[in-house]
Amino acid sequence: MRPLRETGRGLLGLVLPVACAACGADDVAWCGPCRSLLDGPPWRCEERAGRLDRMGTRPDVPAWALADAVGPVRSLVVSWKDRGRTDVTGDLVRALAAGARLLAPELTAAVAVCPTPARLLVVPVPSTAAARRRRGADLVALLAGGVAEALDDGPGRQERGSRARALVALRRRGGRDQVGLGRRARADNLAGRVRLARGLDPAELDGVPVLLVDDILTTGATAAQCQEVLARAGAVVIGLLVLASTPPPGAPSTLAPPPVAPGSRRFGAAAAGDLDRSHDLHSGTRARTVDSAPLRR
Ligand SMILES: [Zn+2]
Repeated sequence: MRPLRETGRGLLGLVLPVACAACGADDVAWCGPCRSLLDGPPWRCEERAGRLDRMGTRPDVPAWALADAVGPVRSLVVSWKDRGRTDVTGDLVRALAAGARLLAPELTAAVAVCPTPARLLVVPVPSTAAARRRRGADLVALLAGGVAEALDDGPGRQERGSRARALVALRRRGGRDQVGLGRRARADNLAGRVRLARGLDPAELDGVPVLLVDDILTTGATAAQCQEVLARAGAVVIGLLVLASTPPPGAPSTLAPPPVAPGSRRFGAAAAGDLDRSHDLHSGTRARTVDSAPLRR
């Protein structure tokens, strides 16, 4: 027999109304106005991520995002990754896959000049094993799977002549969460912690184009580590695709005016808190309130 408390939680789940994972609007898992924030074509964001300059031999590696990681977009990703809102996984995968389809021509051109252009690997930026356990799944790997599927079928496939497939090629050993760490501390915390996945033959990566996929790009420290490890195995990172990009401190956000969702319970407050949060992350201050919960790897 299950403990009473557990049973109670289950019953609560049946009767509690669902709310938008981004803005809190009633009766919908992800409301229309919030969905539209991730609708647009991907735009370049690598200049915001100071640590991407460590992408060694290819300083011009582009990064693309669908949205600014502020306001409801940031709330959405935090809810998805760390507050159990995996009911929006499918929608987020579809949003990033749609963005990837729009990038197909650019990716095709980048793949064509790689030594082994026959296949494009879509590689998720790795989370720690602890984070995967906490979330019950490797959520970023699910994003990568959707992107690979979209690129494999999508426009550009013919011209590219290559297959796209997702591969969990990297793993991340321990280390503390990046939460509350400044830019330099983030890089130090990561040093040497990204490795090739166990059992992966580095020969599989030799000359192969790789598109990295992640949820949010902040400093780029993790992506740069991934690129270094992949490059050592001979792979060529042609880009990084993320759901959202954190604007640097003080930078004007490109976020469209926040949608006013009907029945929104806490939209204004959440959006303001999230704007503050992005600054907290950059200054290394640990956010304290619930609405300011930072992202964890
Ligand atoms: Zn919403």
